[in-house]
Amino acid sequence: MPRFPSLFVSHGSPTLALERGGAADFLRGYGERLGRPEAILVVSAHWETATPAAGTSAAPGTIHDFRGFPEALYRIRYPAPGAPGTAAEAARLIGAATGMPVRLDPERGLDHGAWVPLSLMYPAADIPVAQLSILRDGGPAGHLALGEAIRPLRDAGVLVLASGSATHNLNEFRGNAHDAPAPGWVAEFGEWMAAAVRDGRTADLLDYRRLAPSAERNHPTEEHLMPLFAAIGAASPDSGSRGTRVHAGHAFGVLAMDVYAFD
Ligand code: ZN
Repeated sequence: MPRFPSLFVSHGSPTLALERGGAADFLRGYGERLGRPEAILVVSAHWETATPAAGTSAAPGTIHDFRGFPEALYRIRYPAPGAPGTAAEAARLIGAATGMPVRLDPERGLDHGAWVPLSLMYPAADIPVAQLSILRDGGPAGHLALGEAIRPLRDAGVLVLASGSATHNLNEFRGNAHDAPAPGWVAEFGEWMAAAVRDGRTADLLDYRRLAPSAERNHPTEEHLMPLFAAIGAASPDSGSRGTRVHAGHAFGVLAMDVYAFD
């Protein structure tokens, strides 16, 4: 059974799905390099719930959960089959490890945190996909625990794809050109995270809000960083939770497009 790294992907703006170059081209090549998993479990920043939820639809719809973007984006469908068995197993594992009940949601489709990177990585949309929610008040430690709970899925050939954004201050987004340089406060935060991930300093990462430079400015709300902790939790213990930044870049100055892989 091929084994896949757990991933943290910065999904940037929904328009990433239509872009050329940079992170879009990296993701286009990355799925091919990784190969074909049995199923994909996406932990998306765009599905926040009070207690964990997992999508069990056999044919999840494509959710266009954004406003004011080009019409072409609303026409994109990602018609991958669902992975209800993977979702149910994730729910069972989380329940057993954390004691939290997991709601199974047969209506939930794929939000753009899932389908934007998937449409680039696996454009044929023929690999079963399920989504797992993030926790509104879970914080870094709660999401690390979620990741640890679902780690055994990786032994069954499931790709854990955590989707958020390495930096995410949309209040300072407006008007920036796509190729605007990253301001210092964005670049410094991104490099701090990259070094901490590279060295497996999980305790520092859990305390990033106190330790990382300009943490609150880069993440005024935390939801786009929480999937990173799920990806770290799903890393194998013998990896020391050290990760590799397999892609680095910025979009619109303020969105780090970094992608991390954990063995
Ligand atoms: Zn997002």
